[in-house]
Amino acid sequence: MTVAGVPRHDAEDLDPVRISEQQFERALCHIRGIKRGLIDFLRKPKRVTIVNFPIELDDGSVESFQGYRVVHNRVFGPGKGGIRFHPDVTLDEVTFLARLMTWKCALVNLPFGGAKGGVVCDSKKLSEKELRRITRRFTSELYDVIGPHKDIPAPDLYSSEQTMAWIFDTYDVLHPGYNNRPVVTGKPIEMGGSYGRHEATGTGCMFATKRFLSRGLIPDRQEIAGASVTIQGFGEVGSMAARAFFREGARIIAVSDSKGGIYCEHGLDPVAVEAFKTEHATVVGMADTLTITNAELLELECDILVLAAVENQINAGNAGNIKARLVVEGANGPTTPLADNTLLERGIPVLPDIVANAGGVTVSYYEWLQNQANEQWEYGQVMDRLRDRMFAAVDAVFDRWQSFVVGEVEAPAAKVLPEGGRELPDLRTVALIIAIEPVSYTHLTLPTTCTPCRSRGGGG
Ligand code: GLU
Repeated sequence: MTVAGVPRHDAEDLDPVRISEQQFERALCHIRGIKRGLIDFLRKPKRVTIVNFPIELDDGSVESFQGYRVVHNRVFGPGKGGIRFHPDVTLDEVTFLARLMTWKCALVNLPFGGAKGGVVCDSKKLSEKELRRITRRFTSELYDVIGPHKDIPAPDLYSSEQTMAWIFDTYDVLHPGYNNRPVVTGKPIEMGGSYGRHEATGTGCMFATKRFLSRGLIPDRQEIAGASVTIQGFGEVGSMAARAFFREGARIIAVSDSKGGIYCEHGLDPVAVEAFKTEHATVVGMADTLTITNAELLELECDILVLAAVENQINAGNAGNIKARLVVEGANGPTTPLADNTLLERGIPVLPDIVANAGGVTVSYYEWLQNQANEQWEYGQVMDRLRDRMFAAVDAVFDRWQSFVVGEVEAPAAKVLPEGGRELPDLRTVALIIAIEPVSYTHLTLPTTCTPCRSRGGGG
């Protein structure tokens, strides 16, 4: 997937599966005692569902659509993850994102495994009626693949509250007589959605950044107030992150969408930008702003750069030009492994996706809990819980990272370099270590056969 105008380095491998493989390998180097067979298992998805279905379009023609749902792991509970609607969706991409969800849920300590789904379609070119037909048919094709205790979809790229309402309704019609509300999260409030879910990912980015700064990640910038912030992507995540950073006293100097970016040195008012975007379908052209390209936006001098668009935005082609002091991954996979290396060498920390954007799935979990108890928590209660969980995840990553920095961890956990120093892992690798460890240790404590010994009177 592309955002117009972002440079690429021809030699760089941008295949999402191979990228996730490299990140996984980096983390594995630091995990002791993990068994080879288990590594092979964790590499692969647990279950892949591919469906094809025909849909009649508004003009009477019929088009065939392909959809995927992948569950990567279920050791901590049902699969959890979004469903995206985009022309570039591939099975590989969905598989990589499902695995990312496993690590994300483990990192924030949610009782879910990782899953992801997608339909190959260009939602911008489809009418609402066509999208509804596609969503309903996709849901009925999935039928029992999803379920409140099996696999729980949520919004993702170009899917919305409305999409979740259609999924819920279709599933509910197919499974009468049950409380089916927890089958999908990110629903409208009236259908059992949670207060705060809509802004959870963007606000969670702010909470994660706030905690990392207060822990001294950048010694001379310990708070968000007064920081200059640039945001790539002004969809649900980017616009809500803009609001959250603005409320904390940051200056939002630039934002962008797929059509380009706008810059204002004195700072933009996120609510005014949202109103402009609602009217004009882009942020470009807003009064008193300078129009810039997405490539220029990424390379602006600022304290915090929030990446809230799509994958591979900071790559080998532009990592050397990034002038932000801190990069925050609101989207999944926006920084490539080569860019990670360059940013690490240049002393620019990256708050990785599995920490920075975990707010969305965290409030999804709260929605799932509310649905099972038929409760509706107040907005403040949801936000307090979100903040506490984000802070706890950041603390876990920061503490573990510090154990490398101060040299508490022995080699090979922190590789000793020939000149006597230690090669420190970046925050992504540390976050992955913390996430992979409990998943793998839990697998090792489970029986390796599926025969229920006790039911046969065979003991343990
Ligand atoms: N699509 C979001 C993510 O990638 C949210 C998933 C969810 O709420 O289940 O984290």
